[in-house]
Amino acid sequence: MNYNSTRNKNTVVSASQAIAQGISEEGGLFVPQSLPKYSLDDIKALSETDYRGRAKKILGDFLSDFTEDEINESVDSAYTSEKFGSDNPAPISYIENGDTKMSVLELWHGPTCAFKDMALQILPHLLTKSVKKTYNGKEAVILVATSGDTGKAALEGFKDVDGTKIIVFYPVDGVSPMQKRQMATQQGENVNVVAIRGNFDDAQTGVKKIFTDSAVKEKLAENNKLFSSANSINWGRLLPQIVYYFSAYCDMAKEGKIQLGDKINVVVPTGNFGNILASFYAMNMGLPVAKFICASNANNVLTDFLATGTYDKKRKFYTTISPSMDILVSSNLERLLYHLTDGNDKKVTQWMKELSENGSYTVDDDVKAKLDSLFFGGFCDDEGTKKTIQYFYENENYLADTHTAVALDVYRQYVEKTGDKTPAVIASTASPYKFSKSVLSAVTDEKLPDDEFAMVDELSAKTKTAVPAPLASLKEAKVRFETECAVDEMPDTVLKSLSIS
Ligand SMILES: *Cc1c(COP(=O)(O)O)cnc(C)c1O
Repeated sequence: MNYNSTRNKNTVVSASQAIAQGISEEGGLFVPQSLPKYSLDDIKALSETDYRGRAKKILGDFLSDFTEDEINESVDSAYTSEKFGSDNPAPISYIENGDTKMSVLELWHGPTCAFKDMALQILPHLLTKSVKKTYNGKEAVILVATSGDTGKAALEGFKDVDGTKIIVFYPVDGVSPMQKRQMATQQGENVNVVAIRGNFDDAQTGVKKIFTDSAVKEKLAENNKLFSSANSINWGRLLPQIVYYFSAYCDMAKEGKIQLGDKINVVVPTGNFGNILASFYAMNMGLPVAKFICASNANNVLTDFLATGTYDKKRKFYTTISPSMDILVSSNLERLLYHLTDGNDKKVTQWMKELSENGSYTVDDDVKAKLDSLFFGGFCDDEGTKKTIQYFYENENYLADTHTAVALDVYRQYVEKTGDKTPAVIASTASPYKFSKSVLSAVTDEKLPDDEFAMVDELSAKTKTAVPAPLASLKEAKVRFETECAVDEMPDTVLKSLSIS
């Protein structure tokens, strides 16, 4: 199976090239030329194996230039019970509210307690194998700009992976105390973490500049290294996310929550549109999905897009209590547009050009009609998010994090508006303990302690739920990284950190 660029159909690359390269030369994203199709019998066969078995089948069908051994080795190293707490890295909590049935798919049992682990635990294995196939013998240098979750998940995924180095930049005052501590205490011999004096946009712009800086690139080439990216437009991050939608469906069928062949709805708290797009791919491969419910926070650019067909990023940016969804340009939407226009690369290129030059674009009527038939968009602000956390905690004995709460509330809005009670899979994307302050303030009226770890302990005492081990151990962990730099020092910092300046 080969891959095209969303902005140039004549670009044709192998799976390993798509993963090693990350993004196409003209700025497009790599998309599969065709999809494997699964019948109900195929899905039944998937349900008879475990998560790793399901992942091997699905990844194998997409990564046609990988050997079976390479797929097996990648999957078996990524989804261990040691890393995910059990043999099922994506377990479901069932909530029945009257006749509304919700299957909360918990994607945060990995080492960093956010759903990014589902992809970033396996990406390093896929990436190193891809680099070996396409740029044999070179060391991959992963640069990451992060607003919090991605940086830590990438560090955990790449730590001590042979043939890789990883450098993470985060805005010095732009991440939560817990996120900062998670990164500053990172283990591993091939990792580096640097705080930059600037905001997240500065960090991201700085990293993009390094990627295209020919002097820096030359230095790397001389030293047998090349830059690679672990961000969510890499096909190697999207593909592993398809697996858990099939896996959830299989588990629901096995546990008698649905019959094989029944349709489900999918509800996803959305930022860069990667997670929800993975469920769209799953449907196109044969998973019986009726509706995709796209949940946003106050940064509701996608809600407006789905309602009007106009994507307009010229709007106020809100800093919310669900920070991983604070985003105005959802990069992976480009892939959806490519598929909904039946691969019209010219049109996609035009819309993306309008977005970067004028800040907005409007899709055609036929694309809008397809969006209407498949998607529902809604949003929930911070106040609604806290109310939802409180409601589910008090009435359903379920403690949700702020991102999951956004999804739960938008799903409530959907059912209220449509009356559609098709069983729903709700993607739960983070542990409540990763956002202890907001979650605690939603479930208690008492004054909050000042210290992050005191809040964690209080949340645990109050809700009688366990603190995830990776977060509990941070309290005692030694700080390894305290470097700060200015934005214009980033290229130098990279070279120094690779000892090639
Ligand atoms: C990254 C993230 C999201 C958004 O996922 P996308 O794939 O970017 O849409 C939602 N919730 C959490 C906790 C995240 O870390």
